Amino acid sequence: MFPKIITKKFSLRDRAALKSYIEETDEFIPYGNGRSYGDGALNENILHVKPYNNFLAFDEENGLLTCQAGVLLSEILDSVVKRGWFLKVTPGTKLITVGGAIASDVHGKNHHVEGCFSECVEEFSIMLPSGETEICKKGDELFYATCGGMGLTGVILSATISLKKINSKNIRQTTIKTKNLQETFEAFEKYQDMPYSVAWIDCLAKDEELGKCLLMVGDFADDGDLDYRSKKKLSIPFNFPSFALNNLSVKAFNWLYYAKAKDGTSKQKVDIDTFFYPLDAISNWNRIYGKGGFTQYQFILPKEHSYEGLKEILTKISDSGKGSFLAVLKLYGKANENYLSFPLEGYSLALDFKIEDGLFELLEALDEVVVKYGGRIYLTKDVRVSRETFEKGYEKIDKFREFRRENGMDKKLNSLQSKRVQI
Ligand SMILES: Cc1cc2nc3c(=O)[nH]c(=O)nc-3n(C[C@H](O)[C@H](O)[C@H](O)COP(=O)(O)OP(=O)(O)OC[C@H]3O[C@@H](n4cnc5c(N)ncnc54)[C@H](O)[C@@H]3O)c2cc1C
Repeated sequence: MFPKIITKKFSLRDRAALKSYIEETDEFIPYGNGRSYGDGALNENILHVKPYNNFLAFDEENGLLTCQAGVLLSEILDSVVKRGWFLKVTPGTKLITVGGAIASDVHGKNHHVEGCFSECVEEFSIMLPSGETEICKKGDELFYATCGGMGLTGVILSATISLKKINSKNIRQTTIKTKNLQETFEAFEKYQDMPYSVAWIDCLAKDEELGKCLLMVGDFADDGDLDYRSKKKLSIPFNFPSFALNNLSVKAFNWLYYAKAKDGTSKQKVDIDTFFYPLDAISNWNRIYGKGGFTQYQFILPKEHSYEGLKEILTKISDSGKGSFLAVLKLYGKANENYLSFPLEGYSLALDFKIEDGLFELLEALDEVVVKYGGRIYLTKDVRVSRETFEKGYEKIDKFREFRRENGMDKKLNSLQSKRVQI
């Protein structure tokens, strides 16, 4: 794991106890299911929200679900898919809490169509540092500060979210194999009307093959098959030794993964878990990175600079030889009004890197390219970005800071991350 910190944990079970905890604790940060990659949910005192996890209401006719903030997206799917409903927006893991989804304003493979998670939030309730509880909707400043606000405005207690109607647990998936970055961009543009799209990039490919990918696009099937059951999990039983994951093993994996896909386009029907949540099928997958752990680097670049910026960044990565199995490229639609939400209209790349000598120097060099092209780094994946790089990417940061100061949030709610980048 990276970073490691010893914490004092308080489990949220009822509002009265939370009020006393807030009064008695100097400073803390809410913690959902710990699926954020960085230090945004870490502090010496963490408030564990996952035990606060009752379903409160379900309007089955209109697909409106109300639940406490500790409910996992997987628990929602277990009960709604069979009734013909799905999440409007879901990230690449269902093992996150509703509170965590709002606080990071997560997005999925359909941002270019549906936007972020906050777009499907009808309202939420939140306990503020004063101990008061407020109900909050779009249009309220507290809504814009809290969605994407990384737990720094208060403790989200419950939310009402709107769901998407489906008539199948299956996705009709088309895979497009491209030979370089130019073809990758052309394929994204060609399929931009498909509701879901995501590309796996071979980040060690060089020269004329730079940016080659497998682009997966899809939409829900209409076959009436709603018999959804979560897949059984495989498990990685121990930490891999540190030499197991290196430039050669990543190259071999990338070669095999790309080579086994058919040239041109191919079609198949896959279920929800295979399409949306491939990593959830393997428990403790992080152990392949060994004891030292790993970090994820995710940035986004405005559309007009995405091609040249990605070319520069992929060249730096392949020259460094620091490969990533997971290199995911996505197309994004317009930014929303939230103060710290990550998405903006353009392309984003997410890469997992083993923590090793020279990595942070490489990531600092990549930061320079991101800043040069007007991009930003995703806070929920971040563990190292400097205050300066962060501020250059988020133009509403001053509004957010002021809002926190005015409402006494900066005194009570802090994470290692908020202190590092001085939010
Ligand atoms: C395999 C994998 C794939 C992923 N794919 C995507 C993706 O496609 N898109 C994407 O956007 N993200 C993705 N993520 C990141 C993940 O969706 C977010 O980090 C999410 O916020 C984690 O939720 P959590 O419940 O685990 O919260 P935590 O990781 O525990 O906390 C995340 C943040 O939310 C705050 N928070 C949590 N609960 C509350 C609450 N009740 N009130 C106030 N603040 C709270 C915390 O303080 C912290 O700042 C992925 C993560 C993994 C592991």
